[in-house]
Amino acid sequence: MANMNKNEGIPSRCWCGKWIVIYVSKTEENPYRRFFRCEISLQRNKENHLFKWVDEALVDEIQRMDEDQTRITEEIEDLRSSMKKTVHEEVMKHTNSLDVGCVASILSILCLCSKCD
Ligand SMILES: [Zn+2]
Repeated sequence: MANMNKNEGIPSRCWCGKWIVIYVSKTEENPYRRFFRCEISLQRNKENHLFKWVDEALVDEIQRMDEDQTRITEEIEDLRSSMKKTVHEEVMKHTNSLDVGCVASILSILCLCSKCD
Protein backbone atom coordinates (compact mmCIF):
# COMPACT_ATOMS: atom_id res chain seq x y z
CA MET A 1 0.00 0.00 0.00
CA ALA A 2 1.34 3.42 -0.94
CA ASN A 3 1.49 5.43 2.22
CA MET A 4 4.19 7.97 1.50
CA ASN A 5 1.96 10.84 2.60
CA LYS A 6 1.29 9.29 5.98
CA ASN A 7 1.84 12.38 8.10
CA GLU A 8 0.61 15.03 5.75
CA GLY A 9 -3.03 15.12 6.75
CA ILE A 10 -5.67 15.37 4.06
CA PRO A 11 -4.04 14.92 0.64
CA SER A 12 -5.02 17.16 -2.27
CA ARG A 13 -2.66 15.91 -4.99
CA CYS A 14 -0.85 12.72 -5.80
CA TRP A 15 2.92 12.66 -6.37
CA CYS A 16 2.09 12.43 -10.09
CA GLY A 17 0.30 15.80 -9.94
CA LYS A 18 -3.22 14.45 -10.39
CA TRP A 19 -6.12 15.39 -8.10
CA ILE A 20 -7.30 13.10 -5.35
CA VAL A 21 -10.79 11.62 -5.43
CA ILE A 22 -12.75 10.11 -2.55
CA TYR A 23 -14.01 6.59 -3.17
CA VAL A 24 -15.94 4.18 -0.99
CA SER A 25 -14.45 0.80 -0.26
CA LYS A 26 -16.51 -2.24 -1.16
CA THR A 27 -14.22 -4.89 0.24
CA GLU A 28 -15.28 -7.26 2.97
CA GLU A 29 -12.53 -6.06 5.32
CA ASN A 30 -13.48 -2.38 4.97
CA PRO A 31 -17.09 -2.07 3.84
CA TYR A 32 -18.23 1.53 3.17
CA ARG A 33 -14.90 2.87 4.42
CA ARG A 34 -14.00 5.97 2.44
CA PHE A 35 -10.55 6.51 0.97
CA PHE A 36 -8.57 9.04 -1.04
CA ARG A 37 -7.22 7.80 -4.31
CA CYS A 38 -5.32 9.39 -7.16
CA GLU A 39 -7.76 9.92 -10.04
CA ILE A 40 -5.71 7.97 -12.56
CA SER A 41 -4.77 5.10 -10.28
CA LEU A 42 -7.66 2.96 -11.51
CA GLN A 43 -6.11 2.82 -14.95
CA ARG A 44 -2.58 2.54 -13.59
CA ASN A 45 -2.83 0.57 -10.39
CA LYS A 46 0.67 -0.88 -10.79
CA GLU A 47 2.29 2.54 -10.35
CA ASN A 48 1.65 2.99 -6.63
CA HIS A 49 -0.38 6.19 -6.80
CA LEU A 50 -1.69 7.83 -3.67
CA PHE A 51 -4.01 5.83 -1.45
CA LYS A 52 -5.15 6.92 1.99
CA TRP A 53 -8.06 6.09 4.24
CA VAL A 54 -10.17 9.19 4.88
CA ASP A 55 -10.52 8.51 8.62
CA GLU A 56 -6.73 8.11 8.99
CA ALA A 57 -6.16 11.29 7.01
CA LEU A 58 -8.52 13.18 9.32
CA VAL A 59 -6.66 11.96 12.39
CA ASP A 60 -3.36 13.04 10.77
CA GLU A 61 -4.84 16.41 9.95
CA ILE A 62 -6.04 16.95 13.52
CA GLN A 63 -2.63 15.97 14.90
CA ARG A 64 -0.93 18.34 12.49
CA MET A 65 -3.26 21.19 13.49
CA ASP A 66 -2.64 20.37 17.12
CA GLU A 67 1.13 20.62 16.57
CA ASP A 68 0.66 23.95 14.76
CA GLN A 69 -1.48 25.19 17.62
CA THR A 70 1.16 24.24 20.20
CA ARG A 71 3.88 25.96 18.17
CA ILE A 72 1.81 29.16 17.77
CA THR A 73 0.97 29.22 21.48
CA GLU A 74 4.69 28.93 22.31
CA GLU A 75 5.53 31.74 19.90
CA ILE A 76 2.91 34.00 21.48
CA GLU A 77 4.28 33.20 24.95
CA ASP A 78 7.81 34.07 23.76
CA LEU A 79 6.62 37.36 22.27
CA ARG A 80 4.66 38.20 25.37
CA SER A 81 7.57 37.59 27.73
CA SER A 82 10.06 39.49 25.56
CA MET A 83 7.60 42.41 25.39
CA LYS A 84 7.18 42.34 29.15
CA LYS A 85 10.94 42.33 29.55
CA THR A 86 11.37 45.32 27.23
CA VAL A 87 8.69 47.34 29.01
CA HIS A 88 10.17 46.38 32.37
CA GLU A 89 13.65 47.48 31.24
CA GLU A 90 12.27 50.79 29.98
CA VAL A 91 10.45 51.42 33.25
CA MET A 92 13.56 50.52 35.27
CA LYS A 93 15.67 52.87 33.16
CA HIS A 94 13.34 55.71 33.98
CA THR A 95 12.66 54.91 37.62
CA ASN A 96 16.39 54.81 38.37
CA SER A 97 16.61 58.53 37.76
CA LEU A 98 13.17 59.53 39.00
CA ASP A 99 10.91 59.06 41.98
CA VAL A 100 8.96 55.80 42.16
CA GLY A 101 5.76 57.91 42.19
CA CYS A 102 6.41 58.87 38.57
CA VAL A 103 6.11 55.30 37.25
CA ALA A 104 2.43 55.74 36.42
CA SER A 105 3.03 58.85 34.35
CA ILE A 106 6.00 57.23 32.60
CA LEU A 107 3.83 54.27 31.71
CA SER A 108 1.15 56.54 30.26
CA ILE A 109 3.81 58.42 28.29
CA LEU A 110 5.06 55.10 26.94
CA CYS A 111 1.51 54.25 25.92
CA LEU A 112 1.05 57.59 24.18
CA CYS A 113 4.39 57.19 22.38
CA SER A 114 3.48 53.78 21.06
CA LYS A 115 0.17 55.15 19.82
CA CYS A 116 1.93 57.98 17.96
CA ASP A 117 4.20 55.55 16.09
ZN1 LIG B 1 -1.14 9.64 -9.08
